[in-house]
Amino acid sequence: MKKKIIFPLLILVLLSLAFAVSPLLATDEKNDSGAADTAGDTASGSGAADAAGDTAGGSGAATEKSGGLVALTFDDGPGNATNELLDELKKRDVKATFFIVGSRVEEYPDMIKREYKEGHELACHTWSHAKLTTLDAAGIQSEISQAETAISEAAGADLGKMLLRPPGGSYNDTVKSSVGTPLILWSVDPKDWKYRDTETVKDSIIANTVDGSIILVHDLYPTSIQGAIAAIDELQAQGYTFVTVSELFRRKGIPLTDGEVYKEAPNDGVDLGPLPKEEESTKAEDKQNSNGEKDTDQALFPWGLLIFCIIVLLIDAGGLLWLFWGCKPKWKETNNEKNDSHDDPHHRPAVNGRRTPWRRRNNGSKCNNRQ
Ligand SMILES: [Zn+2]
Repeated sequence: MKKKIIFPLLILVLLSLAFAVSPLLATDEKNDSGAADTAGDTASGSGAADAAGDTAGGSGAATEKSGGLVALTFDDGPGNATNELLDELKKRDVKATFFIVGSRVEEYPDMIKREYKEGHELACHTWSHAKLTTLDAAGIQSEISQAETAISEAAGADLGKMLLRPPGGSYNDTVKSSVGTPLILWSVDPKDWKYRDTETVKDSIIANTVDGSIILVHDLYPTSIQGAIAAIDELQAQGYTFVTVSELFRRKGIPLTDGEVYKEAPNDGVDLGPLPKEEESTKAEDKQNSNGEKDTDQALFPWGLLIFCIIVLLIDAGGLLWLFWGCKPKWKETNNEKNDSHDDPHHRPAVNGRRTPWRRRNNGSKCNNRQ
């Protein structure tokens, strides 16, 4: 009896082991791919060097484009010119951050929705563009929460707490302790609201932008928008990549803390890579960032598992064929010999009126061809 079931049991044990081990192998594979990504990042310098024809092992960094990551921010909107701005940003695949004045949302709800749908970051610039240093904690919180509610409603999604840019860049300890969100200022200010001149805005942005810069423009003025777009073209040609403020800090490895003031994202962090594509479009999904990364990793998962399972199943199928097919001829041979002795080739020996399994008819011996 034991001998009868030992091989099917062995197969079951092998199958169980295979399925138990396969996720571990898949995890290893995922880790490997992660390591490979890291190595790829490290090697990207030499890759760039190769692309530039510098195959002698020179410094990759020297041949890379000078640009880095920067965030373009638009304050005080939306306005009549915002639509044109969104058209131009879309053409260039640039994601910006809009610090929106809450009281203006009602007049331009479609623009808020469009900004959100097209992957820009929606952020708060208070309800009435109030100077927050003149308010107490309750007044500050009211300015912020009203604006956040209006922006979320117009966007058609619960965006929750947003980054805040205090009007005029004004803050004090009361502001810092009551806003409940990071305070985002700027490091590049072309004073577009003052000069209202496309070339001046463009030149000022280009001259002052470095890796990690946060650029301040206002989307109320056509000259600001045209200057900003011209600067984008030049800076992209220099190798700069435009990202939202949240992505800028995330990719620089700088965690944002509520109540802290940030003017730029210095390049002393770790570039964590781009946000998963599907999450760029919604801040709500942004909050599930870690899940999104898992999804990205899992895209690699089924291949290893699938190939491994196919191999295991093929081996098991071979084992089963070998087990049953390989035995039968031997049985048939033995059985035929027995039948011959009964002069009845179709006779199946019966014990107590029941036909016995083929193995028992084989005198209980196991397959002789299994060595
Ligand atoms: Zn403002």
